[in-house]
Amino acid sequence: MSDEKQPQKPNSRRTFLQTAALTAAALALPGCSRNQKPVLSTLTGDFDPLRSYPYRGWEDFYRKIWTWDKVVRSTHSANCTGSCSWKVYVRNGVMVREEQAADYPRISADLPDYNPRGCQKGGCFTEYVYSPQRLRYPLIRTGVRGEGKWRRATWDEALTLVAEKLLDNIYDYGPDTNSFFSVIPAMSPVSFCAGSRLAHYIGGVFLSFYDWYCDLPPGEPLTWGVQTESCECADWFNSKYIVLWGSNISQTRIPDAHFAYEARYNGAKVVCISPDYNSSAIHSDLYFRINPGTDGVLALGVAKLLIDQNLIDAPYVKEQTDLPLLVIPGTKRFLRESDLTKGGKEDVFYFWDSKQQRAVPTPGSMGSDKKTIQLDGADPALSGTFQVQLADGKSAEVTTVFELLKKELAGYELDGVAARTGLPAHEIELFAQELGTRKPAMIIHGAGTNHWFHNDLSNRALILLVALTGNTGKNGGGFNHYVGQERIWPEQGFFKLAFPETRKKQRFQNTTLWSYVHSTNKDPHLYNGKTIEWYIQESVKNGWMPLWPKNGKKPRAFIVWRANYLNQAKGNEILESSLWKDLDLIVDINYRMDTTALYSDVVLPAASYYEKVDINSTDCHSYIHPFGKACEPLFESKTDWDIFHALAEKMSEVATKKGLKPFHDEVFDWNRDFTQLAHDWTGKGTIQSDEQAVDFILGNAEETRGMTYKQIQEKPKRFIQTDPESWNSDIQEGVAYTPFKHQLEKKRPWRTLTGRQQFYIDHPWYIELGEALPTFKEPIEEKYPLYWNTPHGRWSIHSTWRDHRAMLRLQRGGPIVYMHPDDARKRGLQDNDWVRIHNEVGHCVCRLQILPGEKPGRVTMYHGWEKYLGFKEGGWQSLTYIKIKPTQLVGKYGHVNFRLNYWGPTGNNRDTKVEVEKAKV
Ligand code: SF4
Repeated sequence: MSDEKQPQKPNSRRTFLQTAALTAAALALPGCSRNQKPVLSTLTGDFDPLRSYPYRGWEDFYRKIWTWDKVVRSTHSANCTGSCSWKVYVRNGVMVREEQAADYPRISADLPDYNPRGCQKGGCFTEYVYSPQRLRYPLIRTGVRGEGKWRRATWDEALTLVAEKLLDNIYDYGPDTNSFFSVIPAMSPVSFCAGSRLAHYIGGVFLSFYDWYCDLPPGEPLTWGVQTESCECADWFNSKYIVLWGSNISQTRIPDAHFAYEARYNGAKVVCISPDYNSSAIHSDLYFRINPGTDGVLALGVAKLLIDQNLIDAPYVKEQTDLPLLVIPGTKRFLRESDLTKGGKEDVFYFWDSKQQRAVPTPGSMGSDKKTIQLDGADPALSGTFQVQLADGKSAEVTTVFELLKKELAGYELDGVAARTGLPAHEIELFAQELGTRKPAMIIHGAGTNHWFHNDLSNRALILLVALTGNTGKNGGGFNHYVGQERIWPEQGFFKLAFPETRKKQRFQNTTLWSYVHSTNKDPHLYNGKTIEWYIQESVKNGWMPLWPKNGKKPRAFIVWRANYLNQAKGNEILESSLWKDLDLIVDINYRMDTTALYSDVVLPAASYYEKVDINSTDCHSYIHPFGKACEPLFESKTDWDIFHALAEKMSEVATKKGLKPFHDEVFDWNRDFTQLAHDWTGKGTIQSDEQAVDFILGNAEETRGMTYKQIQEKPKRFIQTDPESWNSDIQEGVAYTPFKHQLEKKRPWRTLTGRQQFYIDHPWYIELGEALPTFKEPIEEKYPLYWNTPHGRWSIHSTWRDHRAMLRLQRGGPIVYMHPDDARKRGLQDNDWVRIHNEVGHCVCRLQILPGEKPGRVTMYHGWEKYLGFKEGGWQSLTYIKIKPTQLVGKYGHVNFRLNYWGPTGNNRDTKVEVEKAKV
């Protein structure tokens, strides 16, 4: 068709090219100098460069890329803490792309909303789903573990193998030789429960994850009696002083970082405390390039300044903390009712009432008859020494925790703190003054601080700062820890689905302890002159920490799903050559071939995030939204729910065929009839499908009561209320969620022995090891010069997306270690050199990137790289090993008791040092 026949169409391509040429020529004409405005009249009017292009069919082809015939709401389950709702577009049964859903209801017009919510990893998941690493069929290993030799198996063959082995283990060695590992229920609880229910009904050992990954901040259970409680991220906007302490939110909280940066428009100042000048530091008003591992010194130095300069909130401290509680200096124990009266209680404590001039019982402690911390007109003294009469009639001098704290803090003079942290003294002073006067103030806390050996001490020191200044329990304030998507909002519904016959009938195990004891990983350090083995033995003997299997048996079967145990295992090669080698059967349920799958015996292909029905929640917001099946599980994969259902059926079938009599599990006095396993697993036939499982959780939790899976497919829904059994604040309309309002506003006791924020732990081990109060201890001594730092990164969520084509293109495409130019110069290293990183534990070989923002004396490798993704030798966990902190083995002390993922030793890894040299490759 000629140009003339379509006069309504704009210019042709030829005209466009002519026009462009004329314009260029006009601009080049004499007289069209920079000072003279060019005449562009030739470009005005109806303008379409494609007006008469003859072959326009390709345009439709291009447009069709963006067409779809179905849209399904879903999300991602990689422990990113994001929990972002996405729409997945499907055409002809193929998932073609995703788009942020952007329909979270707004909390309040005064707060920025959560829309749109997502990150670059979530935006390319459809490509991951169809990538070569996707598992398609059940596989059974044919070579040695890790060799990569497999044969395709049928589901029936693979499940029969697993079912027979699990049953043989139970009858031959005991149910505690079967171990189960899966992580983070909040990110997909139905998938989690599928396996936990099986573990529950067959008496298997269920392993922890939050402490093992060192995401648990142990200072929270110690001080507050909770696992982790943080405000949702919209509440960051309410703060007037935001301290990013070891938390690089620009990289690790991509959907939420804006709340902190937007808070600056609301009058907030942002402080960043991090050894490296990173992408969050650039947004800060005050940046502390702190020496690695010295966060505790800074916190305690600032605490001293707050007290010395009278910047503390005394009424808050008197009511909400244990700082006024009385201690007997001789024994270093709290003054208890049992000290004052024969037959008195061990869990009733005292403060000195300045009005009555006598010691009075603290309301709200575990042994108190009063279920409130209301002071009823009393005025607890913070400072001083007092005389009390003990039960034996003798008089004793007592003092307050606050007095002891002041003595402890005397060692943190400003100059010393400045020298140890490497920070200017006047800026530390400025920080203390601003923290004490800008209200509300919050600390956003991350793994950068938490992954150190003495994480409990630094947690306690940081929590102390926001307690002294009266910030905890207020919107815009507090200590808010975000590492891992650990907390599930509809908690009670989840527990009922996960462990149906109550949690008391489940074998739970702290994974750090399990991995340490069942491997050759040995910590050479002494603690108070004793080995960690001594502390472990004592702890287990006293019933403080469980250790399964019992009686010196070894674990025999290990089932992993929704997790990558081996990639994350500290002392990788040590575990591989001992604990891993000793296992008779390793089963990995996965949608991709990761390190754990590669080193397994049986691999079962699982549905990806877009091929299943489930739900998702996070601490970062107060909404629930679903996973939806955009298409049926690809190839021969199945949902986790269907896999464990099929395994339960297979075990019933095998038990029936073998004529197995019920197994009497003495520990729980439970007769386990495995011929009925599938019937039990499905809740006697009531929960067959994953959608029924979702509705079961929603219907059995206060937070989601009345909601159904179908409703949340429509739109994310905000939680309607909180279960007071699980939570410490209410959900309030128009208000961002922040914890501990029950304690501050309703005067409900804290969940601790003393009923207050407890900074003084008078357990004998804490006293012996000098940790009764928050204090600073140097990082564990290692003889190498460079700290080994393995933080969460921008281009992956742990190991997920590490091997994604698009993400690899945003970096150098393989494992890199970052080093400061001075450190590189000293070692004669050039950018992009192959380097060998080593210490006495192991080594790895990868490329070097020289980075001026890195801290001298430290090297960084963003974590999660699978060993097979570009290391010449070793991996990022080849240099670490398991170190257990004795105080984290304590139990049966008021609120300090073993509880899965709440309290138990953490698997820290920052106190590791290395040397780097040019590699011979
Ligand atoms: S990976 Fe996590 S943070 Fe990223 S879009 Fe998905 S849910 Fe959000």
